[in-house]
Amino acid sequence: MKNFSPLLKKEAQRWMMRALDTVLPPRCALTGQIVEAQGTLSPEGWQKLEFITAPFCENCGFPFSFEVQEHTLCAACIDYPPSYDSARAALKYGDGSRDLILGFKHGDKTHLLPGFVPWLCRAGAQMLTQADYLIPVPLHYRRLVRRRYNQAALIAQGISKETGVPVLIEALRRTRSTPPQGYMNASDRHKNVRRAFEIHPLYASMIKDKTLILIDDVYTTGATVNECTKVLKKAGAKAVHILTLARVAHDGFG
Ligand SMILES: [Zn+2]
Repeated sequence: MKNFSPLLKKEAQRWMMRALDTVLPPRCALTGQIVEAQGTLSPEGWQKLEFITAPFCENCGFPFSFEVQEHTLCAACIDYPPSYDSARAALKYGDGSRDLILGFKHGDKTHLLPGFVPWLCRAGAQMLTQADYLIPVPLHYRRLVRRRYNQAALIAQGISKETGVPVLIEALRRTRSTPPQGYMNASDRHKNVRRAFEIHPLYASMIKDKTLILIDDVYTTGATVNECTKVLKKAGAKAVHILTLARVAHDGFG
């Protein structure tokens, strides 16, 4: 009987979704138009998104608007080499992706996740083949209680389900609550997150000599993921890659 319960649960969820779709037809998260299934976008919604494609910086994934030779680095990576091994993102952070991510993060639109997963798996295809574990960037518990879920952890679980790479949800934790970084410049962001993370002692031995992928929703200046990478490498991680749903891609944030 024990084996049947997940199946029954899934069937009940499917039935609920069908019932909901009849009462509240699924709508595009960007345009509000009625679409075929929950979490999908209308053609106009798609047009609001900019997917990152080559050419981009070999290191941080910053998209170039001109052709470059293979293995080219952006100016920021040459001047200040990041602590991580590589970073990739599915989307440029713009009007469309911002609305999607804010809805997902603060608006309970977690039904968008199945739509995001294939984009992330494509953007991170190379790093995912080498990864031992996925690790979400943690929220401080006070923020987690307020928000009820960590969007990075949901994304990591979605990717794990698709690829089979296991997630270590609690491997990294915040040592203190940090103010939101929305309006901070790069230097303030770095100060804001300095020494704000630590490894959960139970996971220290699991991380040693492993290739890890840090998961977050948005890469802005890289301050948070660089700080997390330092902590993971200090604990003995062999390599740390970064995979985010979107990244800021205008000048000055390369
Ligand atoms: Zn770069």
